[in-house]
Amino acid sequence: MVEILTAGRYFRKKYGVNVYKTPISMLGFTCPNIDGSKARGGCVFCENESFSPNHGVQKPKGISLNINSKTNPFLSSQLVQLESQFNQTKTRLTKKFNAKKFLVYFQSFTNTYAPFDTLKTLYDRSFELEDTIRISIGTRADCVEDKLLEYLSQKFKTKEVWIE
Ligand code: SF4
Repeated sequence: MVEILTAGRYFRKKYGVNVYKTPISMLGFTCPNIDGSKARGGCVFCENESFSPNHGVQKPKGISLNINSKTNPFLSSQLVQLESQFNQTKTRLTKKFNAKKFLVYFQSFTNTYAPFDTLKTLYDRSFELEDTIRISIGTRADCVEDKLLEYLSQKFKTKEVWIE
């Protein structure tokens, strides 16, 4: 008989405890279906504010990152936000469920649609957050560069990375 593991059973089997998602909504991120490179306005079902934690995320004024951006004026704020959103969700889940292990879920928008150096910095930092066992990256297939896949496959041989 083949055992089929749901995500929850997989985590319990591997780590011995439940693993909880900490959704991240990153300042300056967008999507080709929103910024005009493919379409404008986003998919009809995509209402990021309805499912994102948005822990104090300020909307950038008319500027968004994309895969070809030469500079990233948001990077230091993004790092602060990453930590702050993670810690707020972690504190809540620990209080409510006695949670011990977490995965950092880059949820809102297209989370590989930014300069490579930015993505590398954010992903690296997310794995340094305490009690994080993996990261999960929500994206779309036409926004994942080969060099990013190469980096993830090399860098995270000992950690789990899921790309959705
Ligand atoms: S983030 Fe996904 S769902 Fe939202 S507009 Fe882009 S492709 Fe559509």
